[in-house]
Amino acid sequence: MSSIRDLKDFLDHSHSPYHAVANLAARLDADGYTRLSEGADWQLEKGGKYYFTRGGCAVFAFRIPTADPVGFSIAAAHSDRPSFKLKENGVLEGKYTRLSVEGYGGMLIGTWLDRPLSLAGRVQVATEHGAESRLVDIDRDLLLIPNLAIHMNRAANDGYKWDLKSDTMPLFAGADKKATFQEILTEAAGGEILGQDLYLYPRMDAALWGSEEEFISACALDDLQCVWCCAEGFKNAKESASIPVLSIFDSEEVGSSSMQGADSNVLERLIRRICAACGLDADRMLSNSFLVSADNAHALHPNRPEMADSTNAPLINGGPVLKFNANLRYTTDGLAAAIFRSVCRKAGVNVQTYHNRADIPGGSTLGHISMAHVSVPTADVGLAQLAMHSCYETAGTRDSLDMVRVMETFYGLTLTRDEQGFALN
Ligand code: ZN
Repeated sequence: MSSIRDLKDFLDHSHSPYHAVANLAARLDADGYTRLSEGADWQLEKGGKYYFTRGGCAVFAFRIPTADPVGFSIAAAHSDRPSFKLKENGVLEGKYTRLSVEGYGGMLIGTWLDRPLSLAGRVQVATEHGAESRLVDIDRDLLLIPNLAIHMNRAANDGYKWDLKSDTMPLFAGADKKATFQEILTEAAGGEILGQDLYLYPRMDAALWGSEEEFISACALDDLQCVWCCAEGFKNAKESASIPVLSIFDSEEVGSSSMQGADSNVLERLIRRICAACGLDADRMLSNSFLVSADNAHALHPNRPEMADSTNAPLINGGPVLKFNANLRYTTDGLAAAIFRSVCRKAGVNVQTYHNRADIPGGSTLGHISMAHVSVPTADVGLAQLAMHSCYETAGTRDSLDMVRVMETFYGLTLTRDEQGFALN
């Protein structure tokens, strides 16, 4: 049974994309999934449950039905979040010791200041014959980026342009430190570091709050909330004649073009390999397939409602959101909307809609990128949230559980379609 406490636990232990994927992999292990290697020969059996990871920060899970499959039911979400990445030679010595960091993705910078931070990610530790990938999460209040006092920055409340080469360097130590940063990092890694992908994260745990605990605030709700909802729905779903695929990509916040992003070959290759191993025709299978691209959406803002479209402004806890854009920054078309609405109807869950205000260019997401590699009807959906790309974002508790039900329903249905329409059974 999926619970908000479990979502909170997942968020509190997923301080980097690598940790989120490791947590998902551990859950799949506990549920009896077989871990595959991309470099091995795949022997897939009917009724089998499988997954593999790529790059340590993307994970793909699927089950082979016992009945003859007719298509794929795919959900996609992303493991990464905007943050600051530690640079190489990232220690700035002086009267204070600071770290040198570089922005990853489009964060709301001011939210990162004046709060305890630490570092999490993955390192490559030297071994006799090469290197071993290890997770690192320095689990203590280690760093902080201090604001400039209002007396030294009188314009701070009038719109301030951050100077990224100086304003955002986290403070690590005063003059009399006992251990160098490199010593602390090497100890956390347990050996000599040959390579690193380490990101700042804020030290606050997720909070359930509001008059009825209707809100959840946490780091990286975009997109770990959807990751968790898709993973729970995937896990809970009954068998259908569609092959259920859970795909958690990395690199969405920087354009998806990495080895494990939506703009890589990973999903298409997965589909081809499943079909080859099961004796299925991939092109015919794809003609009965559907992709739900799940990435959070902007809720109507309580203080700035004028920023939203007048008739397509979703509310927190109003249900999952279908996202539309005439220029296909969101892929949802009439067919994909009808398929997703039908799934929500079967799940008994309300569905909302989102358009950008016509004069405000919006973001983009996984859907139109994965569409170029796996061309199936795709709905861009998400959960309504506030303060997207703040280091501490806010969304709805009830929405989370509603989305689990929708994804569980989606994965339990068999889609068939042709040019005349579709059926979901
Ligand atoms: Zn996102």
